[in-house]
Amino acid sequence: MSGYKKRFTLCVSKGVSIPATLIKGDTPGGFMAVSAGVHSREYVGIRAVTRMASSLTPGQIKGTVLFLHCVNYEGFIKRTPDTMTDGLNLNSVFPGERHGSAALKTADFLCRKIIPRCGFILDLHSGGFCEQLVPHAYFQGTSSPEVSRLSKEMALYSCVPYAVRSEAENGFYSYAGQLSVPAIILERGGCGLWSREEVSLDIKDTLNILRGMGFLNDGKAPRKHPVRIFEKGKYINAPVSGCWLPKKNAGDFISKGEVLGEIQDIYGRVLHTEYAGSPGVVLYQTASLGIEKGSPMIACGLL
Ligand SMILES: [Zn+2]
Repeated sequence: MSGYKKRFTLCVSKGVSIPATLIKGDTPGGFMAVSAGVHSREYVGIRAVTRMASSLTPGQIKGTVLFLHCVNYEGFIKRTPDTMTDGLNLNSVFPGERHGSAALKTADFLCRKIIPRCGFILDLHSGGFCEQLVPHAYFQGTSSPEVSRLSKEMALYSCVPYAVRSEAENGFYSYAGQLSVPAIILERGGCGLWSREEVSLDIKDTLNILRGMGFLNDGKAPRKHPVRIFEKGKYINAPVSGCWLPKKNAGDFISKGEVLGEIQDIYGRVLHTEYAGSPGVVLYQTASLGIEKGSPMIACGLL
């Protein structure tokens, strides 16, 4: 059997399209999607997908790999915030609506046309435009034990130091898990930046995950890494608007009761002090000085 590679555009609706590359391998096997750009300013995964989709050949692939280069491509080009043209965050609107606005239609398209075809989904993300982040993964933790086990196994094929069992019920990978497709998010980079080193690590992780799940025929053995697993994550939003002064860095370990940071008003008066409720590690936190009430402030993996 001889495989092929094709580049095409998936048309979700007028004005919403997803650039894609499909590589059908010379050897039969399953179907895996590797996506990036669900959030338009998370660049590391987008660049990694471009490079992998360009360099991988059908001879190296077992089964089929679908690369979704940039799910929110219009937002990526316009450098809009991490929402689609309708102002909605795609990862908050699953399963979407067939006749809704751009994000709703895209979620519906992914649910109907992409997820049901997939045996596995790897969704590449970074910290947000104003977010400092330590590389980590989220694996499906609320679906069936087998889907959770396979999702965790995918995470262990990455070289990130931490992975968190996710209880999220929304988002591309979470919804995939609910439809019995093992899926993870791999997070690397942040603050609207990307570097060659980060892209190389995303490529290394993706190739090892493809290898580990049986999609890569390159003669190399997949390697599991000593990824530290956190069974729970805590995601804290700012309780007031003001100036956010973190006391820790992403990747720092924290002990119970330790000060994570404080919010001051513009005159320097303390409005709020955030304490760690449990020991764990800082996964990501807001890097900008200004912070708005209700927006993400700091997230921790809990021991
Ligand atoms: Zn993201």
